[in-house]
Amino acid sequence: MCDFCHQHGEGRTWYLEAKNYSEDMLSDLKRRRFIERFFTPRHRRAHDDREAARLRKLPPFVRSMVTAGLVHRQKKEHFGQVVAIEEVERIFGLVQSVVRVACYCRHLTLGREHRACYGVSLGPNGGEMAGILRGLDRSFLNGPNSPGIETVPKDEALAAMREHEREGLCHTVWTFRAPFIGGICNCDRSDCLAMRWSVTHGLPVMFRAETIAVVDRDLCSGCRACMRVCSFGALSYSAADRKAKVDLSRCYGCGVCRAVCPKDAIRLVERKSVPAAAGLW
Ligand code: SF4
Ligand code: SF4
Repeated sequence: MCDFCHQHGEGRTWYLEAKNYSEDMLSDLKRRRFIERFFTPRHRRAHDDREAARLRKLPPFVRSMVTAGLVHRQKKEHFGQVVAIEEVERIFGLVQSVVRVACYCRHLTLGREHRACYGVSLGPNGGEMAGILRGLDRSFLNGPNSPGIETVPKDEALAAMREHEREGLCHTVWTFRAPFIGGICNCDRSDCLAMRWSVTHGLPVMFRAETIAVVDRDLCSGCRACMRVCSFGALSYSAADRKAKVDLSRCYGCGVCRAVCPKDAIRLVERKSVPAAAGLW
């Protein structure tokens, strides 16, 4: 159970608490201002990623102090958690509406649209969060092929997310000033800032999933399809026994490997049931 479950979930899984999606939270002016600034490109530091990369060059003691400060700030403002597709399904069971928007990270890193982000709300048509976005500079929402904020039926959104998973994208749930949850993204390490920060630059801005992957050695054929899609470098291959193996210290529990395994050899189990991974967030 991560910090947020203790702080914002009253001991239960924090992103399964309906109150954390509440429309009331959007009447908080600080939160509204944060969201407005967050999604306004001129306020975003385009060089954020370079700053995170510079952290690696600092002496270890200074680096650990700066990292702790940045993580503390991110936990208050914009922090995430990896979620398996079953958890996305449970979240969809809580909320009233789902909207699809262009990905803001990819707008910043690639300069073009990619529609892989989903707003979730207890209100209709994306609720007040969508209302806030509609009031902003919407250049990132309205690219040449983008219909802007698009309300999608939950089953359609879930099918699209399963497809994202087969492409190697990992589902992540995000706060906009904790504990308010505004959306679910589908991330990869190449283009998404949160994954680059957390995995490449060692600046964690998201928790690992409540789950972790386990390979059934009897079913595994050693095809290595799973290794090609893991963004976290958590899978290795043993030439001696021709099987894939999960590095528990690296696995974020996203389930992307499971989605591509042709032998159904990968299961997700509860992180807390695996002693070596239970305390790793
Ligand atoms: S994709 Fe499945 S069968 Fe292939 S190596 Fe990975 S676990 Fe084994
Ligand atoms: S090994 Fe872990 S981190 Fe890698 S794809 Fe599988 S579940 Fe995700």
